[in-house]
Order: sequence, then structure tokens, then C-alpha cells
Amino acid sequence: MRNFIKKKENFKCENCGFEVSGDGYTDHCPKCLWGKHVDEEIPGDRASECGGLMKAVESTYVSGRYKIHYRCGKCRHEFWVREGEDDDRTLLMELMVK
Ligand SMILES: [Zn+2]
Ligand SMILES: [Zn+2]
Repeated sequence: MRNFIKKKENFKCENCGFEVSGDGYTDHCPKCLWGKHVDEEIPGDRASECGGLMKAVESTYVSGRYKIHYRCGKCRHEFWVREGEDDDRTLLMELMVK
């Protein structure tokens, strides 16, 4: 198991320019759902040095929460993350696997 220090960090969305206030796990923009490839395996591990833009390709609704499937535009890495507190529900719903 890897240890990492959870730190709060804010970042600016590289897709829409929204100023995102992070809670240490935040890896995507709540407005447009684009993310940045900073985590490798676990949300918050910050183990990736890729830094590419991650596009939300689909979402699913499991036990009361959305999960979002991301694909990195740079290295094609894919993974699932939990929704954020302020994520746009309309966008999440549109991404739902039908
Ligand atoms: Zn954005
Ligand atoms: Zn990547």
C-alpha cells in the first residue's frame, strides 16, 4: 500500500477555465467534468506525471452515487472516479450508460 499526503489544492480547469477549489481528492471540474491526469490508481495518489486532459466518457449510478469513467487524451489511460460534491448533475445524467 502506498502512502500519500492528502493536501488541499485548487486548480484552474484547462477546458473551461473554471477555478476549482479542491479538497485533496478533486481531480475534475464540476462544471464541465473534464479532469486532469494526475492520479494513477487511486483518486488522490497523484502518482501520474502525465498531466494530460481527461475526458469524461460515461457515467454510472451505483448505490446512490455517480461514478465517472475517464479517458486521458494524451496517454489513453482510463479509470473510474467518484463524482464530486458539486458536479453538474445534468452532465452526469447525459453521460449515463444506456
Ligand atoms: Zn471545466
Ligand atoms: Zn494520461
